[in-house]
Amino acid sequence: TNRTFTMIKPDAVENGHIGAILEKITAAGFRIVALKLTQMTVADAQEFYAVHSERPFFGELVEFMSRGPIVAAILEKENAVEDFRTLIGATNPADAAEGTIRKLYATSVGENAVHGSDSDENAAIEGVFHFSGREMF
Ligand code: ATP
Repeated sequence: TNRTFTMIKPDAVENGHIGAILEKITAAGFRIVALKLTQMTVADAQEFYAVHSERPFFGELVEFMSRGPIVAAILEKENAVEDFRTLIGATNPADAAEGTIRKLYATSVGENAVHGSDSDENAAIEGVFHFSGREMF
């Protein structure tokens, strides 16, 4: 068993998809270890996405991710990182498989409804970025 970190991004929160996305996540067998509605500041988003700081879309990404509330969560399941990325689908919803969260709820390649960690190491770093020990179960 291991863990991944996810965010329901501002677009999906604005569009009223929190409940439907959490239902997809739990129906797929993930246990919710930590969960909250929160908002990243511009500085938080710059730090969280620092690995993308040289990419042309960095400014747009930081503005988007800090513009409104998100749902942050830590999820537990066997093979969590890989299975969660399968559940959310390709970065661009136009390329995402049928039934995936991004196919169902994403707006565009930038406003793509959900985040999923890309490695066990990043899942741990991202979880600690958003949650204290007392918020993890
Ligand atoms: P995430 O890290 O959010 O799970 P990902 O690993 O599928 O997404 P990355 O390539 O790591 O995708 O990009 C991180 C995020 O940056 C994307 O989820 C998306 O919000 C944004 N992004 C990626 N490519 C573009 C683009 N061409 N234009 C605008 N935003 C983009």
